[in-house]
Amino acid sequence: MQTIAGLATARGFVAGPAFIYRGDGDVPVPEYVVESGREGDELLRLRRAVLETRRDLEGLIAALRERSDRGGSGVRLFESHMMMLEDPALIGAAERLIRDERLNAEAAVRRTVDSARAQFERMNDPYFRERVRDFDDLERRILSALTGFGSEPHLELKTPSVIVADDLTPSETVRLPREYVLGFAMNGGSTTSHVALLARSMGVPAVSGLGDVTERVKAGDTVLLDGTNGTVVINPDVATALEFRDLVERQKEITEEASIGAPAGTLKGGGEIRLYANFHAGVPMDDVRAHGARGIGLYRSEYLWLNRELQPTEEEQFKAYREAAEFAAALDKDASVSIRVLDIGGDKMVRGVSARESNPFLGNRSIRFLLSHRDVFRTQLRAILRASAFGRIKLMYPMISCVEELREASKVLDCVRSELDAEGTEYDRKMPVGMMVEVPSAAINAAAFAKLVDFFSIGTNDLVQYVMAADRGNDAVAHLYQPTNPAVLKLVRLTVDAAKACGIQVSVCGVSAADPIVGILWAAMGVDMLSVSATYIPVLSKLLHRLSRADLDEYAKVAETAGDDATGEEVFSACRKWMYGRFPDLDNIVL
Ligand code: PEP
Ligand code: MG
Repeated sequence: MQTIAGLATARGFVAGPAFIYRGDGDVPVPEYVVESGREGDELLRLRRAVLETRRDLEGLIAALRERSDRGGSGVRLFESHMMMLEDPALIGAAERLIRDERLNAEAAVRRTVDSARAQFERMNDPYFRERVRDFDDLERRILSALTGFGSEPHLELKTPSVIVADDLTPSETVRLPREYVLGFAMNGGSTTSHVALLARSMGVPAVSGLGDVTERVKAGDTVLLDGTNGTVVINPDVATALEFRDLVERQKEITEEASIGAPAGTLKGGGEIRLYANFHAGVPMDDVRAHGARGIGLYRSEYLWLNRELQPTEEEQFKAYREAAEFAAALDKDASVSIRVLDIGGDKMVRGVSARESNPFLGNRSIRFLLSHRDVFRTQLRAILRASAFGRIKLMYPMISCVEELREASKVLDCVRSELDAEGTEYDRKMPVGMMVEVPSAAINAAAFAKLVDFFSIGTNDLVQYVMAADRGNDAVAHLYQPTNPAVLKLVRLTVDAAKACGIQVSVCGVSAADPIVGILWAAMGVDMLSVSATYIPVLSKLLHRLSRADLDEYAKVAETAGDDATGEEVFSACRKWMYGRFPDLDNIVL
């Protein structure tokens, strides 16, 4: 039995066999000497693989052209890979190794690319150093063609398992067959990376930052995954396994208990903090309903774009948005669904659409991307507006950083409305339009923005990373990623006060809202709604049922009067202490 401690990334407990997921980058490279006289066959294998790689790249380039990749950066990038592939110095060198040293094709490719990579790694110019990544990418394509490995690793997952991986991209995560994913144990990652969000929205536990779990677990080993406390036990002894089974049972009871009774988020003595669910394509709607969500506070539309060759059509989007609007309407009489327009970029890269940027979190992402790809923006707005005739939809812009963006977006929206009017197409003329507050400039200037929109939704995942300059997905700076840092609290305070002054609604939809200590703090600071992955609703609801508005006011003071010189950890500890003072049985409640 081994116990490894990591970061509690998605709440919950699960036990199951390990499935070691080796991502696209991990193609094994065998090395051997081919039989004398078989060099010709080996050369043929290499040539076939090069041909397949060329076809692969041609297909990709054609798809990018079709999508009228505006700056053409994607097309240029893969054209440069094509040129590298056709460079006789590269493939020619690999062929020589096969002929002269009777090396197998995989090893010949690895050696040749290694030596090219080394030349670029030595260069000081960042542009040339970046070429190393191009070699990595091209090498992976050729090796995948040679070995058949790496392109579809998810297909090997055939039974319900705990996914043990180095780290996963959002695309890799959503490609996994949902019915076989019991949870995630990852070497790297952080509590706010997209795989973490995905685990929560799938309702499965996850532990990240485990260091070398992929080396310590063998396929099929029994894994006890505790996403609430951030630990993983490999091959437990009988006593540990039984204790764990009890935890699983207790967790089930709490969920069942919290989903009956007063509506989620009702406060003791009256009032409420509405508890909504975060949602995206692939989340089981039944899960959302079962956990007591009263609407959808964040619909991440970008998941309709992941893992596909062509962008979703207007019709496809319309169907998806309409379905969500109808579903929300059935949850609660006042329910709505806040559809956030395409938020790609950062760590959510869409194959063939996202440009390669050296600093994607500060690049052409989200609303910036949409304003520079008006055709994509218009199509999405048409689909959302059309769906608004079938249920209460709110439109939400991500990553707004200055008023110009909001004005530009409004112009496009007006144009689309006029188009629909001219066609006589029905839509909700009063559809509320809001914005995410997730860039510090938006929070600092919230008073101005509040006059321009119908609601705010604070995206703490990004807000914290931008305020603290700490990458939300980088384990090495996880200690600086502090939702309760006084600087973050000040921005939340500015945003809430600006919303109240203008009489608009304000919610929090970042992951921090799912943490009972922090989520309740946002509620205490005055937000009207928390939107979290549905599985987190029962615990928040249970706590809110036991707190009155006066309790919340007192709680907000604890955090906000801790002082500007308090550390994020100190503020968090003060909040924790207050909570435990109120709820000595907190551990049982939040389990
Ligand atoms: C956020 O930034 O808090 C947010 C909800 O958006 P996302 O995590 O999708 O970037
Ligand atoms: Mg965000």
